[in-house]
Amino acid sequence: MTAPDRAANRPVPRPGILEIAPYIPGRSKSTGGAKLHKLSSNETPLGPSPRALEAYRATTSLERYPDGSSADLRAAIARVHGLNADRIICGNGSDELLELVARAYIGPGDEAIYSEYGFLVYKIAILAAGGTPVVAPEKDHTTDVDAILARVTDRTKVVFLANPNNPTGTYIPFDEVKRLQAGLPPQVLLVLDAAYAEYVRRNDYEAGVELAATAENVVMTRTFSKIYGLAALRLGWIYGPEHVIDALNRIRGPFNVNSAAMAAGIAAVEDRGFVEDAVRHNETWLPRVTEEIEALGLKVTPSVGNFVLIHFPEGGGKTAADADAYLSARGCVLRQVGAYGLPNALRMSIGTEEANRDVVAVLKDFLAT
Ligand SMILES: *Cc1c(COP(=O)(O)O)cnc(C)c1O
Repeated sequence: MTAPDRAANRPVPRPGILEIAPYIPGRSKSTGGAKLHKLSSNETPLGPSPRALEAYRATTSLERYPDGSSADLRAAIARVHGLNADRIICGNGSDELLELVARAYIGPGDEAIYSEYGFLVYKIAILAAGGTPVVAPEKDHTTDVDAILARVTDRTKVVFLANPNNPTGTYIPFDEVKRLQAGLPPQVLLVLDAAYAEYVRRNDYEAGVELAATAENVVMTRTFSKIYGLAALRLGWIYGPEHVIDALNRIRGPFNVNSAAMAAGIAAVEDRGFVEDAVRHNETWLPRVTEEIEALGLKVTPSVGNFVLIHFPEGGGKTAADADAYLSARGCVLRQVGAYGLPNALRMSIGTEEANRDVVAVLKDFLAT
């Protein structure tokens, strides 16, 4: 059979599906020996709270379906964050919730906007829903509210904003978020993805709790994958107006969060001391890593998250790809970000003291070769 014949005789995905570039996760293996510092997916180096681990291990009755409404977990989140539990949905990672938003609000002919270096899951979710991604250019690797507003048309359904953004680590102040919301038509849904909110130590920053609580067109997503150290269990949540929560609840999987994740999530969100320790670790190491890498002569985008974007010289002999190979062979696994249009950069998650020191030392050797 010729290729067209074969295609005619088997199921074919909807138009556009096969044009989606799959998301490439951070590598979890080095090319070197036994040592491995996995600094490729922004997981905390401290692991989960011991209480979360204990709750995970104590999960029993695996033959039973989980509570499909995640009621206890929603109650715990609501208590800690001062929210209305009825306006929370928990998800199998916040990625699931971002996709639900896209599926519920975007269809063929619709547009959705994200910024130039915005989290790649947005583009995939928009395309998978049949929508058209619209990219707003950034200034200094930072979201530009005016550029987003300038791209709104009567086909725009959703604006996705990671604040702080991954992979850049930059953020926009809450005033700017409010200006963005105020400038959007009321029918456009603004998604504030606050995956790194806990790490941000800036007086002018807010995750968006207040806006998602009061505006009819704003939702906020959060994750247990980063500061809570539960990436393997897949757990996130979304907070927003009743009508959006209602729409998303109609299309989500009825048992989208598993029992072990719920148990661990409750213990994790209640262990505020552990979160504070993780913040403190980051507060110590984020500036140190930034300064030490800059001292090697590389440019680092100022980050408020738990990772840094390291830029290698344009057109120089020392490329990001070469650095990645060199680091990986020595047990340091960082993240290439070519898929974000940043071929000359690597993203490094803040790790343990040992991992951070190793990366700086290996980078220094690499630059001296
Ligand atoms: C890591 C990350 C997420 C979290 O995804 P999960 O599915 O909850 O693991 C969401 N948004 C951004 C910007 C991220 O970097």
